[in-house]
Amino acid sequence: MTLAARFGRWFLCVAFALVAAVLMVFGPIPTASAESGTPAGWELSTASSEVTVGRVTLRYDPNLHDEAMQLVDYIPGWWSEMEQALAGDLDDRLVINYVAHSGRIAEATGMPRWAAGVAHSESGEIVIAQHAPDGSRTDLDSLLRHEMAHVALYRATDGHEIPRWFHEGVAESFGNEIDLLRSQTLAGAVFGPGVPALAQLEENFHGLDSIAAVVSYAAARDFVNHLRGRDADGSDLRQVMSEIRRGTSFDAAFIKAYGRSLGELDSEWRSGLTGRFAWFPVVSSGGLPLAALSPLMVVAAVRRRRQLREGWDRLGREDDALAAEVANVLRRPGLLALPAMNMTARA
Ligand SMILES: [Zn+2]
Repeated sequence: MTLAARFGRWFLCVAFALVAAVLMVFGPIPTASAESGTPAGWELSTASSEVTVGRVTLRYDPNLHDEAMQLVDYIPGWWSEMEQALAGDLDDRLVINYVAHSGRIAEATGMPRWAAGVAHSESGEIVIAQHAPDGSRTDLDSLLRHEMAHVALYRATDGHEIPRWFHEGVAESFGNEIDLLRSQTLAGAVFGPGVPALAQLEENFHGLDSIAAVVSYAAARDFVNHLRGRDADGSDLRQVMSEIRRGTSFDAAFIKAYGRSLGELDSEWRSGLTGRFAWFPVVSSGGLPLAALSPLMVVAAVRRRRQLREGWDRLGREDDALAAEVANVLRRPGLLALPAMNMTARA
């Protein structure tokens, strides 16, 4: 590798670490902008173009043609991933509307809220917007995956009632596999006020406190990730779904599938949180953010220390040899006896 290439790679490492540090420490708290509910107040008439892939119909604003075509390429793969993780096989019919601007959703709270996406699980109809309620561009892939997961979960459980925290946790888990901002939010709760208990999470999803909701999305997502990754092939979660489909209660379905109660699984997940996010206090306090975030930089620092230590050892051996020679000369007969020299002492 040339020196320029080495420098380029090093620069990229540093740039990446800086971006990661800024995201972790100062990144905006994501808004809960993806929901399940009844679309209300969306302007869908602009979605006048249509494309069909398998049993999925994508209606879109002709101005958003290029992005719509990119989505179409991914939708079948995303759906089969969710289908396999949750049930093996599901009804594949979906109608997705892709429009430029956000609309509102009507929820059980009776308070219509603005959202960037919404899934009407019963009908399999999804609406997603290019722009979030605050006008910023949405992360379209995550948004659509989130809404598709709501529909997939509804079908995997045959529409049986399940807690809202679980619905949102599954949607978030499939929405985005690596989510730095959600991780930051959760770490902040772990080392701050604590992660709300499951019952509190559920309440937060039904309430109107947006900060509590953001923490709850992050916690529910992480707990579902834990449940999904606990066994090698994810069959425990699929068994939960089949138990619920045949009428087993939500809590009993977990005992049958995992051999543990939901409370035990919850404790198991919580017990690992502090260790998993041990990096957070270092990063958030501003101490050594780069070294903490970039393993490559840590390796480089260790190697540098080792080179220095080896260098000192070599110098030390040379010093000792020189001291021995000088001592030999001084011991020759006829020369004055001098005090023993110690040339090896180093600070
Ligand atoms: Zn949702």
